Amino acid sequence: MLQRVAVIGAGAAGLCAARHILSRLNSFAPPVVFELTDKVGGTWCYDERVGTYDNGLPVHSSMYRDLKTNLPKEVMMFPDYPFDPKLNSFLPHQEVQRYLEGYCQSYNILPHIRFNTVVESVKPVGMTTEGGESRTTWKVTSSDPSGHRKTETFDSVFVCSGHYSHPHTPDIPGIENFKGKVLHSHVYRYAEPFSGQSVVVLGAKASGLDISIELAKVGAQVTLSHGRPRFTFPLPPGIRQSSPAVAVDEDGSIHFQDGSVGTADVLMFCTGYNFKYQFLDGAELGLEIQDQLVSPLYRFMMPPAFPSLFFIGLCKMICPFPNFNCQVQFALAVLDGSVTLPSVAQMEDEVRRELKEKVEQGVQQRHLLIMEQNQWEYCQTLARIAGFPPLAPVVRSLYEEVWWQRRVHPENYRRLNYRLVSDTQWELIE
Ligand code: FAD
Repeated sequence: MLQRVAVIGAGAAGLCAARHILSRLNSFAPPVVFELTDKVGGTWCYDERVGTYDNGLPVHSSMYRDLKTNLPKEVMMFPDYPFDPKLNSFLPHQEVQRYLEGYCQSYNILPHIRFNTVVESVKPVGMTTEGGESRTTWKVTSSDPSGHRKTETFDSVFVCSGHYSHPHTPDIPGIENFKGKVLHSHVYRYAEPFSGQSVVVLGAKASGLDISIELAKVGAQVTLSHGRPRFTFPLPPGIRQSSPAVAVDEDGSIHFQDGSVGTADVLMFCTGYNFKYQFLDGAELGLEIQDQLVSPLYRFMMPPAFPSLFFIGLCKMICPFPNFNCQVQFALAVLDGSVTLPSVAQMEDEVRRELKEKVEQGVQQRHLLIMEQNQWEYCQTLARIAGFPPLAPVVRSLYEEVWWQRRVHPENYRRLNYRLVSDTQWELIE
């Protein structure tokens, strides 16, 4: 019997899942991809709207108008589908959207996507096969544009719904007293409305730094407030650094951790996103779904008790598309039986042990899904166990080079262009 797989989301992760399922039609039926918007691309689908779509659902993408990728196309790509070689290394978001549309076309994914269809619930159901073996199937309930609800049964579910849509805003006591505008980068689209204003940007990771630079270019006075080590490289004129904002006074002034006090027209939270899976009942799956952590997940993908449900792309600080590509191939190898999993108890133990070790090393709870340097070994391990080609070493080496360039030249690193010379070597192009 061919296995039926539901894929939730037609962003990069969902398209990658569909592409690999479609290449294994001896084991799998063509997938059903549920997509709540009317386009593929997820995050890369820029939408000037903020708030809600016409159907009342919240706008998914956090993309802003002038965003350029922070990874060069040479490492950002799916390893089996390069970007157009004529393009520069760092791309405007429209090019990534075009790339994903091309991927979709090349692998003939489009006919398998149900657009404007929201997955509302995913529930495990125990069943006994003819051979007396017990296994889980999944009841997936979705609603189409006319509001018509449908429940279908699948053998497996890939959760590819993304995690950059639900703003995370840390508590700042007294914030209700702030007299200006408060917003999150999720609803930031372009800089012009902030021209001439004083803006406190909270958070200095990728978006915080990028948005600060955009704001400074249109003449905003930016205070980049963050708890990371002070950047020692020169920031563009118009941006100054400060310690984290810790409170807002009754008169609306902002208190910073170092004791300084300031005022501003705008407070912009660039403080990341929360995990939210409205269609899942964590307790039913033996999972704790918190704002910054989903646990326990074996190999950062499956609830040990339900290893036919896969979260693709959950980890943070990764090279996303190559990571999705590895996770999807591993998941399919689990489903087609080429990878045998340990027992439920062993998987649970392993995850809990790993998390405990990280906590003992001082990793905060909200950072437990940050992968950074561990991502390479993780991807290699998945490839080795499931028997698919590992990521070429050049992906890591160029990724790390760009990571460093970004820290030192946050304003200019995107001017560089690279070329892959071999599986192990890249070069800078003049
Ligand atoms: P998404 O792209 O979010 O796609 C999820 C899809 O699921 C969406 O289409 C959504 O509509 C759909 N969906 C959600 N819930 C449901 C539901 N209940 N029913 C049906 N459909 C549903 N990565 C890089 O590699 N390079 C970069 O330069 C880079 N820059 C970024 C900049 C920003 C501002 C952000 C937010 C992210 C950036 N990323 C970057 C990370 C980026 O999110 C990933 O590269 C990748 O696009 C994530 O893909 P995804 O499929 O996991 O999620």
